Amino acid sequence: MSTTPACPQCAMENTYPDADNYVCADCGHEWPMLALADTDDSTDAVIKDANGNALADGDAVVLIKDLKVKGSSTVLKMGTKVKSIRLVGGDHEVDCKMDGGSFMLKACYLKKV
Ligand SMILES: [Zn+2]
Repeated sequence: MSTTPACPQCAMENTYPDADNYVCADCGHEWPMLALADTDDSTDAVIKDANGNALADGDAVVLIKDLKVKGSSTVLKMGTKVKSIRLVGGDHEVDCKMDGGSFMLKACYLKKV
């Protein structure tokens, strides 16, 4: 019985601890124990769009409703397409670059395209 986690690289379970790292005997991948010791799901929660699809950096999305930008008169129109989003976590999870600048948006107002 092994208590070490499966290799995140090749998913083989032929791993062993080495100082502060785990090492995979199959592919040679090493990764820190600390990252995997953190079992709190909230730190790497999947960010989902309005339809429940997982979003990732670089995804293209469209707005599903008009969004007023806080502290300005700018309104981002429903249907506006954002080519490449960046996930940042926090209250407004998605960082978008558009013609008007850079905006922080909530993933629940976006739809992956
Ligand atoms: Zn491996």
